[in-house]
Amino acid sequence: SAVKHEASCIFCKIIKGEIPSFKLVETAHSYSFLDIQPTAKGHLLVIPKYHGAKLHNLPDEYLQDILPVVKKLTVALGLNVDGPEGAGYNVLQNNGRIAHQVVDHVHFHLIPKRDEATGLI
Ligand code: 5GP
Ligand code: ZN
Repeated sequence: SAVKHEASCIFCKIIKGEIPSFKLVETAHSYSFLDIQPTAKGHLLVIPKYHGAKLHNLPDEYLQDILPVVKKLTVALGLNVDGPEGAGYNVLQNNGRIAHQVVDHVHFHLIPKRDEATGLI
C-alpha cells in the first residue's frame, strides 16, 4: 500500500517532521519516538507510516514492521532480560475512546517497568 497521511493528524505531522519529536528508530513502514507525557522513564511509541485510526484499518505490511521494532527497542532500553531481574515492560495499544485511545493514529506504547529498589537495571 502507498503511504497515506491525514493532514490534521498529530502523528502524521510527527512522521513528516512538521512537529518535533525525539526520534528513536525509523524503518520503511514505521517511526518511533519518546512519548511526550511518559508514564515511566523511556516510555515510547511505535507508529505506522500510514494513517489508520485503529489496528484493523492497517494493511498487514505496516503491522508486520512494528513488533520487530518494539523488540529492538526493548534491547536498546536494556529491558531484554529473562527471569526475575527487576525489569520488564508493557506493550499497549488502545483502539477507540472506550478503550482509552486519545490519538486516532495507531500507536504501540512500550512502557518500561523497572524495580527501582534493586538499582541493578
Ligand atoms: P493513547 O491514549 O491514544 O493510547 O495515547 C496517546 C499517547 O500519545 C499519550 O501517551 C500521549 O502522551 C502521546 N502524545 C500525544 N501527543 C503527542 C505529541 O505531540 N508528541 C509525543 N511525543 N507524544 C504525544
Ligand atoms: Zn495519522
